Amino acid sequence: MSLLIGNIGSLVTNDPALGDGPLGLLSDAAVVVDGDTVAWVGPAGKAPAADGSVDAAGRALLPGFVDSHSHLVFAGDRTAEFNARMSGRAYEAGGIRTTVAATRAASDAELNANVTRYLAEMLRQGTTTVEVKSGYGLSTVDEARSLRIAAGHTQETTYLGAHVVGPEFADDPAGYVDLVAGEMLEACAPYARWVDVFCERGAFDGDQARAVLTAGAAKGLQPRIHANQLSHGPGVQLAVELGAASADHCTHLTDRDVAALADGTTVATLLPGAEFSTRAPYPDARRLLDAGARVALSTDCNPGSSFTSSMPFCLAVAVREMGMTPDEAVHAATAGGALALRRTDVGRISPGARADLHLLDAPSHVHLAYRPGVPLTAAVWQGGVRKV
Ligand SMILES: [Zn+2]
Repeated sequence: MSLLIGNIGSLVTNDPALGDGPLGLLSDAAVVVDGDTVAWVGPAGKAPAADGSVDAAGRALLPGFVDSHSHLVFAGDRTAEFNARMSGRAYEAGGIRTTVAATRAASDAELNANVTRYLAEMLRQGTTTVEVKSGYGLSTVDEARSLRIAAGHTQETTYLGAHVVGPEFADDPAGYVDLVAGEMLEACAPYARWVDVFCERGAFDGDQARAVLTAGAAKGLQPRIHANQLSHGPGVQLAVELGAASADHCTHLTDRDVAALADGTTVATLLPGAEFSTRAPYPDARRLLDAGARVALSTDCNPGSSFTSSMPFCLAVAVREMGMTPDEAVHAATAGGALALRRTDVGRISPGARADLHLLDAPSHVHLAYRPGVPLTAAVWQGGVRKV
């Protein structure tokens, strides 16, 4: 079955060969989908016939968002912690460890239902590709279980046994790193595409991160890193040195870090939901873009530091607070995310791409930043199937 989407007022292709600028913008355009793939893109007046058709009524169509950083396998929430933080009160409970305890206590069915629920929430806001990390199990059994559940929903699964040191190893962090790079990795590798480390003071240092990432790479997992979120540190340099697909957060960067990202193949993935939800200073996207670094935007959806599933929200914050233009933010949330996952089949609308399409109730993609907080998603196709 083929489908013609016609009368598109403004089309973001992310293919500069098809239209204007880096977004490859076309006006008065049409797209033809054949099965799960984009078959044709061009001026509405020249569109070939198809089995069915949809009238976009002059509205904007863009690629489905690619959310390349989320932590969806968890149970419970941390309402009290957030409320205390936003009320200027100290909070005594254990942060990530609260979620670890709830996640370990949850059944497979409960964890699976949570992942299903948050992915559906994302889809309703135009997100069609999602990376999902483990990291709230912190034992061999619970990390492997988290990844097995995630792998039932997405091919972009990330082993994050090195999120924080597991509670049983509070006095033996070196022993925990050995576990993460050994037995736990062995159990998790069959369900994971990526390996990640939270490289930060209070989590894992550069040497520990290197040990985990190189052990993961030896098992066929590709590296990505939580880097330079709370302070300056070795994460970004390590990411670039190891050829990681992405260095995520990038909030505290030296000039040398920025230059390394600009010169390397590692994408700088910015997660403004985390700074928003912790009242922290935002990363400087303008500095990275002006230096020539590739930038992605993602939600970091997790119950502790960024409990948003909304790419439109992150995009609006990035424009308002991080110096991005609306075009740059839309690019980072679609093509940028695809690059951060080393995917060429998503994040663009051009022949051969997967038919992941997001129709807005708006005449332009700029409305995603211009009308913050407004539900603008009119329709979503995932692999050519209408989902919203
Ligand atoms: Zn994260």
